[in-house]
Amino acid sequence: MHEVGIARELVKLALGAAGKADLGRLSRIEAKGHGLLPEEVESVRLHWEVETKGTLAEGSDLELEALPARGQCVDCGWQGVWEGVWEGGACPGCGGEDVLEEPAPVLELVAVSGE
Ligand SMILES: [Zn+2]
Repeated sequence: MHEVGIARELVKLALGAAGKADLGRLSRIEAKGHGLLPEEVESVRLHWEVETKGTLAEGSDLELEALPARGQCVDCGWQGVWEGVWEGGACPGCGGEDVLEEPAPVLELVAVSGE
């Protein structure tokens, strides 16, 4: 299951942010997952509990928002939500068909808080 990998990646991002912010303990982590399915979020949260054990983030809340995958056009460089493009079959920028889906999921740390 790739949710374990997602949880581990998030732990790594969160601990990195905690180090930069000089926090001794994390209480809340906000993140976004582009290309993550809403039904995967719950599973990631379960793994989060396991993966944060013994770290600064143990017992913290994970707020993870599932967002649509993004894509990029090879021809004109257009970037945006991939899903609609895929349905239409062409790039909204140039009408081309070489739109690639960004390798999903792309995780983005929004904020961490703690003390
Ligand atoms: Zn294009």
